[in-house]
Amino acid sequence: MGVRENRTVPRYHVETLGSLGAIPAVIPNQIGGQDALAADGRTFEKIDPATGRTLCRVARSTAADVRLAVDAARKAQPAWAAATAVRRGDILRQIALLMREHRTAIAGFVASETGKSRKDALGETDAAIEMGFFVAGEGRRFYGQTTTSAVANKAAMTVRQPLGVAGLIIAANTPIANVAWKAFPALLCGNAAILKAAEDTPLSAWAFGLLAREAGVPDGVYTTLHGYGEEAGAPLVEHPDVAIVSFTGSSEVGRWIAETTGRRLAKTCLELGGKNPLIVCDDADLANAVTWTLGSAFSNAGQRCAAGSRIIVFEAVYDRFRQMLVEAVRGLKVGTGDTDDYGPVINEGQMKGMLAAVERAKAAGALVLTGGERLTGEAYAGGFFVAPTVLEHAAPADEISRSELFGPITCLYRVKDFEEAIALANDSPFGLTAAIHTRNLNRAMAFVARIQSGVAVVNGGTYGSEPHMPFGGLRQSGNGWREAGTQALDVYSDLKTVYINHNPGQV
Ligand code: NAD
Repeated sequence: MGVRENRTVPRYHVETLGSLGAIPAVIPNQIGGQDALAADGRTFEKIDPATGRTLCRVARSTAADVRLAVDAARKAQPAWAAATAVRRGDILRQIALLMREHRTAIAGFVASETGKSRKDALGETDAAIEMGFFVAGEGRRFYGQTTTSAVANKAAMTVRQPLGVAGLIIAANTPIANVAWKAFPALLCGNAAILKAAEDTPLSAWAFGLLAREAGVPDGVYTTLHGYGEEAGAPLVEHPDVAIVSFTGSSEVGRWIAETTGRRLAKTCLELGGKNPLIVCDDADLANAVTWTLGSAFSNAGQRCAAGSRIIVFEAVYDRFRQMLVEAVRGLKVGTGDTDDYGPVINEGQMKGMLAAVERAKAAGALVLTGGERLTGEAYAGGFFVAPTVLEHAAPADEISRSELFGPITCLYRVKDFEEAIALANDSPFGLTAAIHTRNLNRAMAFVARIQSGVAVVNGGTYGSEPHMPFGGLRQSGNGWREAGTQALDVYSDLKTVYINHNPGQV
């Protein structure tokens, strides 16, 4: 719970990032170019998921802080929108360059706040930097359309226009990438952006805010707020001057956000959960399928919206695949080091929730082939480490087959043939990503045509999105928008259709 803090906040500079591990005692908000504690002075504890110990305290924002942020954003936005997209892109490129300069420090923050290895944190940081460079370049490709008119001497075209103030709310799983996926396109399009960081990952969001200020983003144009979802996120969603809410998180919260913004008809982009199928056909390269199943199910401790949590295997190869997979899973190393395969899950509540779901699955008849428990012992003391878990015999209608666990847990399903596999893969409330392993081109193409998902992969994992490619899902995985790629510009801008009548007789 929050406590009152009377500390004044030092003004942080980019040099703060210079020394690895220099984590401020209190992570402030960044509003109107200033570091600030929450208006009522309260903070909350950020726990290190690898040890269970306090890492730092964090500003615990409320509606009062959201109001300050929106006021500052509204004032600053028109001048930002009046700058050319090329100029905005130049400033975003400068953020990306600073991120590259400070990549080890940023990755250090990501590793500290999530418990993932520095190697994984660096990979994530580099992906965030790439997103910065990609979006910055879009400043010079901020295309509309020119077309013909039915009327002579009338030009017809479209241009992009910003929406105003963008409220960005993100999950903790890949924290710096999640910031980059939203902040860069929102800013390029000429909006002022207010990012509500995930309460479990305040450090990398704070570092990004520092670099944005250093790169020349004008005061008020980019804000970072910290705090809990209901206290700091909800007022941002409800604020009448927030023109677009872009949310990455659970389907449950996404549904509430859509209802709330729906009442005031504010644009809303939802990137939600997944229960992603990976099909292993009887003609698959089984060793390759095992490798990709491991990555899909267990990388980032399974905390990916794109995690492979339903492994659908043809009966002809089921027993062999199960044996190979379980053996490989037993060989996975869990820990925070660079040679480990994955680290802890983000907090105690999440850990308890997923382990309880495994218990319920067992009670309903599922069999745990390996894992199914919290890891204990000296190396894991106090941390939220979950053993890599594989189950079988879960019915397609069971809770564990339909709801997302967001942890290192996956289920095996036995199917007769391609028809049964595709039917089971599509039998889900979600539709984010999907993969198939086969050597048969016709099967692969039939899968691509018939799978109901936002992303379809042949002979690979259910994860692995690239900055220039759109990402998003069907059904309860989202509401139709795509992030990343040039499609992200459609989220954060609106079109203006322009007609210009002219008269060649008056030249
Ligand atoms: P969550 O929905 O609990 O929280 C996500 C964010 O929303 C946090 O910042 C939280 O503070 C905020 N929030 C919570 N309640 C809120 C409210 N009432 N109003 C406004 N904001 C609120 O999700 P989580 O458990 O932290 O994250 C995991 C989820 O995110 C999974 O479902 C995962 O699939 C999803 N996710 C989706 C994508 C994607 O691109 N589709 C990417 C990453 C994660």
